[in-house]
Amino acid sequence: MLRLSGLALPLDHEPEALPAAICERLGIERECLRSFTIFRRGNDARRRTAIQLVYTLDIELTESVETAVLERFSGDKDIRSTPNMAYRFVASAPEGWSGLRPVVVGAGPCGLFAGLILAQMGFRPIILDRGKVVRERTKDTWGLWRRAELNPDSNVQFGEGGAGTFSDGKLYCRVKDPRFLGRKVLEEFVKAGAPDDILWQAHPHIGTFRLVTMVESMRRSIEEMGGEYRWQTRVEDLALDRLPDGRQRLRGLHLHDGSFLEADHVVLAVGHSARPTFEMLHARGVHLEAKPFSIGVRIEHPQSWVDRARYGNCAGHPGLGAAAYSLAHHCANGRTVYSFCMCPGGRVVAATSEVGRVVTNGMSQYSRAEFNANSGLVVGIDPARDYPEGPLAGIDFQRRWESLAFEAGGSNYSAPGQKVGDFLAGRPSTQLGEVTPSYKPGVTMTDLSRCLPQFAVEAMREALPVFGRQIARYDHPDVVMTGVETRTSSPVRITRGGDFQSLNTERLFPAGEGAGYAGGILSAAIDGIKVAEAVAKSMVAN
Ligand code: FAD
Repeated sequence: MLRLSGLALPLDHEPEALPAAICERLGIERECLRSFTIFRRGNDARRRTAIQLVYTLDIELTESVETAVLERFSGDKDIRSTPNMAYRFVASAPEGWSGLRPVVVGAGPCGLFAGLILAQMGFRPIILDRGKVVRERTKDTWGLWRRAELNPDSNVQFGEGGAGTFSDGKLYCRVKDPRFLGRKVLEEFVKAGAPDDILWQAHPHIGTFRLVTMVESMRRSIEEMGGEYRWQTRVEDLALDRLPDGRQRLRGLHLHDGSFLEADHVVLAVGHSARPTFEMLHARGVHLEAKPFSIGVRIEHPQSWVDRARYGNCAGHPGLGAAAYSLAHHCANGRTVYSFCMCPGGRVVAATSEVGRVVTNGMSQYSRAEFNANSGLVVGIDPARDYPEGPLAGIDFQRRWESLAFEAGGSNYSAPGQKVGDFLAGRPSTQLGEVTPSYKPGVTMTDLSRCLPQFAVEAMREALPVFGRQIARYDHPDVVMTGVETRTSSPVRITRGGDFQSLNTERLFPAGEGAGYAGGILSAAIDGIKVAEAVAKSMVAN
């Protein structure tokens, strides 16, 4: 089997054009082509009048022809043997194994995949989460959106499926993945009910409703393999032994109900919003560092404007779907402004997990058919410049702006909002224009500079017109921004060594986004697999 990349065909090509193009590119006769499958399909919309579909294909040729083709194109990076992408387990539980079961804290994508892999290897993990099963959690999450009632243990950030459950479900990332662990994640998602186009779309996404049923299905698989879930179970403290060399070793977990869970291998996959857990880790001397993240707002445009700007007359073509964008600008004040977590045809959601704070984020359904496009418009910040006071200072920084946003929104979980024209002119907004914001429970028109650092306001004012030259009407005066967007990634890193254990706390395996080793659903899931493998190797060695 050989893999051919970068084969471009017009958007409206006939099906038969694909095998014809393969044969032409490889210089072979039609009868030498046995079969082919699409490994990936994206589009190239740089020329809006000539949008192309770009294919990566796995191709089966007659044997002698395949060898000859590979030889003939040996210097061509777009033609090579198809790599073996099958996942191989690195360990398995010994026959009759009866040691302490590994514990996974957090049932987000990282914890879910750590739990799944450990279960598939026969280690029967125990998975703890402070939140509820996903159906119960959905009710609580809607409680904030519909009735302005926040449950601090069960919300957009906490509960089965983790932070990405009510999301656009984008499933791509930029991490290096030489072992094709991302493929394993996507295949498990398909087994759990995801549409199989996620295996070949260049920018796959699932949307919220499907994610809900998928995490339920994965839960059932883990339980069938002997894994166990404990919901509404918050880890409050660690039991640690001091070692002669000054390091410490984990002995177990103190849970919120006062009970103790003995454990000698703990995956800590608590996500970027686990602030009380970060505080507890710091108090217990677990090595933590402050890390960079970003702050800003959500910006909303009618999806039709984005489609038109990206695809011209092809806007609305079924082969293209709702258009996305990705923007970045380096500002005169040394800051970088960029678009974050773009959700075509979706809505802005209330994403706080703490009382008296307002946080924005975005989600969509699989269809991406809602009226507005939204994305974060965020500014990069870092500990040295912006919160140098220690490992937890990034959390204080987030809380400060989230509280100010709560106040600016009217202290009832409405988000503060402003039109772009008013933001650029430095005056508060008093009414909406052409664009209607989607955030629930509501939006209070005001001045967003009340709840953003001055450097971020300056940077965004510089970037908006620049982005407007790349996406027509991006900076239209009636475009609405709501804020604040602070949970872009974890403000801390729970630093780990080459064995995936905490630098100074043996048997604690920090993982995923909260530990600072992932950003997004797919990379968190990949990290969960890697950490599960490290846990399994350590368990077998002990
Ligand atoms: P999380 O998913 O945050 O899971 C952590 C879990 O740990 C939670 O369930 C929490 O309840 C639990 N927990 C925390 N503390 C404790 C404790 N002390 N004891 C027990 N349990 C605890 N990413 C994408 O790639 N694509 C998207 O489209 C996308 N959209 C998003 C939309 C929204 C609204 C949000 C909020 C996030 C979105 N993300 C998206 C980001 C993505 O959700 C995260 O990157 C990902 O969920 C991180 O996975 P994780 O497993 O590391 O942590």
